[in-house]
Amino acid sequence: MSSPKPSTIRVGRRYRASRLEGPYDAIVIGSGIGGLTTAACMSKLGRKVVVFEQHYTAGGFTHSYERNGYEWDVGVHYIGDVGADHTLTKRLFDHITDGQLKWAPMDSHFDRIFLGDRHVDLVAGPEAFKAELKKAFPGEDKAIDTYLVYLKKVASAMPGLVIGKVLPDLAAGPLRKLVSRAAPSYLNRPTREVLESLTGNQELIAVLTGQWGDNGLPPAESSFIIHALIARHYLYGGYYPIGGASEMAKTIIPVIQQSGGEVFTYADVKEILIEKGKAVGVGMADGEEVRAPLVISNAGVFNTFDKLLPETAPHHAFYQEKLKTVERSMASNCLYIGLQDTAENLKLPKTNFWIYPGADYEKQVSDFMAAPDETDIPLTYISFPSAKDPSFAERYPGRATIEIVAPGPYEWYERWADKTWGKRGEEYEAEKEVFAQRLLAKLYEKLPHLEGKVDYYELSTPLSTDYFCRYSKGEIYGLNHTPGRFEQDWLKPKTRIPGLYLTGQDVMTCGVAGAMIGGLLATVAVSGFRGLPLAKKMFVG
Ligand SMILES: Cc1cc2nc3c(=O)[nH]c(=O)nc-3n(C[C@H](O)[C@H](O)[C@H](O)COP(=O)(O)OP(=O)(O)OC[C@H]3O[C@@H](n4cnc5c(N)ncnc54)[C@H](O)[C@@H]3O)c2cc1C
Repeated sequence: MSSPKPSTIRVGRRYRASRLEGPYDAIVIGSGIGGLTTAACMSKLGRKVVVFEQHYTAGGFTHSYERNGYEWDVGVHYIGDVGADHTLTKRLFDHITDGQLKWAPMDSHFDRIFLGDRHVDLVAGPEAFKAELKKAFPGEDKAIDTYLVYLKKVASAMPGLVIGKVLPDLAAGPLRKLVSRAAPSYLNRPTREVLESLTGNQELIAVLTGQWGDNGLPPAESSFIIHALIARHYLYGGYYPIGGASEMAKTIIPVIQQSGGEVFTYADVKEILIEKGKAVGVGMADGEEVRAPLVISNAGVFNTFDKLLPETAPHHAFYQEKLKTVERSMASNCLYIGLQDTAENLKLPKTNFWIYPGADYEKQVSDFMAAPDETDIPLTYISFPSAKDPSFAERYPGRATIEIVAPGPYEWYERWADKTWGKRGEEYEAEKEVFAQRLLAKLYEKLPHLEGKVDYYELSTPLSTDYFCRYSKGEIYGLNHTPGRFEQDWLKPKTRIPGLYLTGQDVMTCGVAGAMIGGLLATVAVSGFRGLPLAKKMFVG
């Protein structure tokens, strides 16, 4: 077997205080896709932006990592809406990468939903999507057609919600009232409730909500807004970045550098500097103070307001109260698998597998949480990245990768939280091994020919998510997408503290596209009128 090519997946410049070349127009804390989007959009408007990332590589959940001759992505399994040029997601990617990021389509049946022994595919394109469902659920034509209409109506209601995020409070309040009056009654209702108003067929509901792992909340708890946005996002199929997830940061960073900006890794921000009630810069872990008139946090609202904002800052108490109104999203375990053969030889599909024991998602989750060792895993998600990426075979000859994600509550691992990554001891490793074997068994159940072919595997836990991406309870989607979350008018780019802004998934929604829209909105919020042509170009075309 030939060796993989030398690694190029560490992205960004290693931070040293001596490498700073200020003054900067803005500081972005965190290099997630939201932070990178804001920095690149600002750079395109002529602003010099520095991004500080605490991890050894840039990208946040869009980073890739390499070990033992394999490469895996950590939070990018598929992206929707990039198959045609007229979508917001594609326009935005093209804008921030100067058109350098390329996409490979997955199979037309991009998601396969397993309910016990049965499976139904989600197929690309509204007509094919409906046809496949109607074949699987005869007699449900009306429910399926109406469901698609509902998805469209939610999409039509989004501009109002989006504009409300950047308008001044005085105008945003009345707009919110107008939007909620014009919006369909089901817009922000629990997903299950909306679907049960369309059909009593629980298996159909389970298939339609089979992507619930994409936002982390079972349908009884999630808002129909997030359900519909995700379902619409993938309605025309799933795509994978050619070269892997790290290509995102790799192609965005040169755009940030065009106006003199930089993305620094190993750059741990300890606090936001506040003077005379305004954000004026950041204090770094090495004691350096970096100043800029704008500080834009991509670190999520819990990190921003609980850890980075000093207690003496104005409005600290206000944001402490607000944090009580939102919840952290689910935590997960992920098994990263390496195989010594090509995806083609191993017949790995370009289809994501969503494996459920049955259709009653909520009961399965609660039973599992109560007795994880005796209960079947309620959601097992299997992704085949090396099959999706046409460049993988050339970059890693004779190799293939698989990733399996499943719920993994932080509490299971909390007792090792004060131990360093890689040094958590035998008991932790043994616990992980038990879960890893359960996930491998799920894989072999669906693809028995892979048994005996696995060369390497390692399990990440919520502690890994905290260590590498700074989500202190291992949450993988920022905030939970409950109906309550969508009522929170403080989740927007402009904070009450002059000079301090938010970007990323907590502004709008999770998902790469959701975090990028947060990034675009942050740019518009800091740029005022100068940002309007950009907003028009992205949203309208
Ligand atoms: C397992 C998993 C699978 C997923 N699959 C998909 C998918 O297939 N498709 C999809 O669209 N989305 C997917 N997502 C969701 C998507 O990856 C995220 O919603 C999105 O990338 C979040 O971007 P963000 O910009 O908000 O921030 P993040 O990616 O969370 O980045 C925040 C960054 O801030 C840094 N940071 C925090 N504090 C500091 C500090 N003090 N100093 C310096 N840096 C700091 C962190 O290290 C991190 O890099 C997945 C997520 C996970 C975890």
